[in-house]
Amino acid sequence: MKDEVSPLGGAKPPEGGTTNRALDNLFVELYRAFFMNKTEKPFVIPIFLPNMGCPHRCVFCNQTPVTGETRHIPSPEELCSRINTFLYYKGKERKPVQIAFYGGNFLGLREDDIISLLYESAQFVRRGMADSIRFSTRPDTIDPHRLDLIKSFPVSTVELGVQSMDDRVLSMANRGHTALDTERAAGLLKERHYEVGMQMMVGLPGDDETGAVDSAEKIAGLSPDFVRIYPTVVLADSLLAKWHKAGTYVPLEMDECVTLVKNLCLFFREKRIPVIRMGLQASEELEKGGDNILAGPYHPAFGHLVYSEMFLDKATSMMEATKIGHDSLLIRVHPRNISEMRGIRNRNVELIKKRFHIRSVNVLPDPSLEQGEVKIGN
Ligand code: SF4
Repeated sequence: MKDEVSPLGGAKPPEGGTTNRALDNLFVELYRAFFMNKTEKPFVIPIFLPNMGCPHRCVFCNQTPVTGETRHIPSPEELCSRINTFLYYKGKERKPVQIAFYGGNFLGLREDDIISLLYESAQFVRRGMADSIRFSTRPDTIDPHRLDLIKSFPVSTVELGVQSMDDRVLSMANRGHTALDTERAAGLLKERHYEVGMQMMVGLPGDDETGAVDSAEKIAGLSPDFVRIYPTVVLADSLLAKWHKAGTYVPLEMDECVTLVKNLCLFFREKRIPVIRMGLQASEELEKGGDNILAGPYHPAFGHLVYSEMFLDKATSMMEATKIGHDSLLIRVHPRNISEMRGIRNRNVELIKKRFHIRSVNVLPDPSLEQGEVKIGN
């Protein structure tokens, strides 16, 4: 399988025939893994703690528009009310329920606050209304003392804001921790059998494609249970906004970012590491567009763009392999993949037409195909 896909270069063109079975299998497998993540993921009750517990502000960060919440620690009453509201809307679904603390540096909070938030959340687990707790935190907050502090609570998952494994990039982003902190944190969490997620960013100041690939390889070497990949966008009221205004920071272009994230995603999938999110979660605040996002590759369906490009690659390499001209082309995919195959605003269809000089391209649903599978014909 490794022969069919270069570590980060995506799919190699097949060497003959209209299909290449190994390539087919890999693509279907990658897609299925993504789809399974989507459908089997737990019901997450998010509690946002924007920038709470942060020792300072990282250059790209402003959690208020990202989370849509104001900066404060919820009181026990507020916390319980929010959890109950989510449970009410969950209905009778049988998915596992996780109470999640996001948007800040959880283990950087005051110890009293950590214990109070975990204690109140644990009551829901004790009563069988939730299954576990998860939180995101900085790698440099993971130490034996803080892990001892949380060990009696039903925390199952810890997400580390890794962002990069290049110390120069981390320093330029004012992260205040090193790649070694991430390695140490991963080791301590694994020793204690937590599920470990890692968040990485692309397009940070001083980073480039080679650097992102290198970070991905180092992250994969730490064997996280899952990964999230976030493009760097320029948020209002961040230091990056000043650098962008001064012309000293230029964000990635959307197309370049989609291709980079696609290649990283393929790499992690090849390593059997699920990528559970690509791109910032859309929120009402973020959707205010220009008010909050000043520049950079933000799209509310960024992951869809990435998967659309994978489908385009797949159809294109099959077309190249046929070596026959087409006046019209029929592309068949699973019914759930129609929009990914077409691309946003039919972009993939138009690109295929132009590239192969085809008059008409039809994308049709075929329930006999697996998700991620593509068939072409006249
Ligand atoms: S990126 Fe994380 S650690 Fe840095 S300021 Fe934002 S929430 Fe805090």
